[in-house]
Amino acid sequence: MSLPVSLPFADRLQFVETSAIRELFKLLGTPGIISFAGGFPDPALFDVEGIAESTAAVLANTPGPVLQYGATEGYNPLREQLSKFMGNKGVTVAPDGLIVTTGSQQALDLIGKTMINPGDKVIVEGPTFLATIQCFRLYGAQVISAPIDANGVDVDALEKLIDEHRPKLVYLIPTFGNPSGATLSLERRKRILDIAVRTRTLVVEDDPYGELYFDQPPPPSILALSADVPGSRDWLAHCGSMSKILSPGLRVGWMIAPPALLANATMCKQFSDAHTSNLTQATAAHYLTLGRLDGTLAVVRKVYAERARVMAESLQRELGGAITFNAPQGGMFFWAKLTEGRDASAFAKRAIEKLVAFVPGAPFFAHDADKSTLRLSFATVGVEKIEEGIARLGQAL
Ligand code: PMP
Repeated sequence: MSLPVSLPFADRLQFVETSAIRELFKLLGTPGIISFAGGFPDPALFDVEGIAESTAAVLANTPGPVLQYGATEGYNPLREQLSKFMGNKGVTVAPDGLIVTTGSQQALDLIGKTMINPGDKVIVEGPTFLATIQCFRLYGAQVISAPIDANGVDVDALEKLIDEHRPKLVYLIPTFGNPSGATLSLERRKRILDIAVRTRTLVVEDDPYGELYFDQPPPPSILALSADVPGSRDWLAHCGSMSKILSPGLRVGWMIAPPALLANATMCKQFSDAHTSNLTQATAAHYLTLGRLDGTLAVVRKVYAERARVMAESLQRELGGAITFNAPQGGMFFWAKLTEGRDASAFAKRAIEKLVAFVPGAPFFAHDADKSTLRLSFATVGVEKIEEGIARLGQAL
């Protein structure tokens, strides 16, 4: 059987490409490599026992509903648990004020699908989560970046860009950003709410990392703060995820948004995957009733905090003069910059030869990439390997 030479693919595919990161990931199977490249949580920290207990319980107690088709909006017991979970984080939301999505990635896709016309402008942070840039581009968006610093997006610059471009939406990762590791200050969060109301612009708050703080909790989410700014909730969508706090394999995320956006996203989700797996939704819901999450998160926070501390010390020791970096207060990433304008992708190639991997920063920029930047994840690497890996980076440089 011969394959067709060229299928008549949709024009929209021209806006996206297989990411540079994927190419790099092919090399990660090399034996002996120490990888700071991934964006995965550490599987050794998954609460397998609690998840197994939850799966067994829901199969024993409610086999019909969890193995059957379900509602597109989500499995009601999970929506109730998520409403409580968000309540503990200062967000008042009724169970029907949120929908469950297949990972928060799907929420971002549904936002793109429901909001973006070809040629529309959207504003993201520079740098930001690569899959969001690609997803919005697939819908034909012109993606514009706003600069960030250690305290998150530069709100003065963002406000100017909004006034100039009148974007369809602004996408932010305010807490322990990927890839930046940066956290938006409380004062800037409040200003974003005022700007959203004044300019009548939808702000999408993506928050998969907020629970992974090291010493102290981050400022309340923009959504939580919206309670103090009349009218602001009409301009906010908030994406949450179980991926970094429980398990990404469950593919359970959620979106809180104004009713009209939730309704349209639900309609589009219906044509996409009908609903998120009831089995994993029910498992997550049961897990949240067990009272194990606090203990699980306490361990994850402690382990990640220690790894981040060792990574900061090692970077300072081994690459001190050649690199500047932020020291994140939570999450999974260090964002670093090579001094003297050195190119991080050439450095990545030399690093692979020394059996250590990281991701060059350029692909995380929608435009005007800073080629001297790089992202290092400490989440899956033990402290001894972190020391060894960063020493190898020192040699590669
Ligand atoms: N947003 C950000 C900022 C992420 O880093 C990720 C995954 N690493 C996602 C969304 C998607 O996560 P998931 O679909 O597993 O919830």
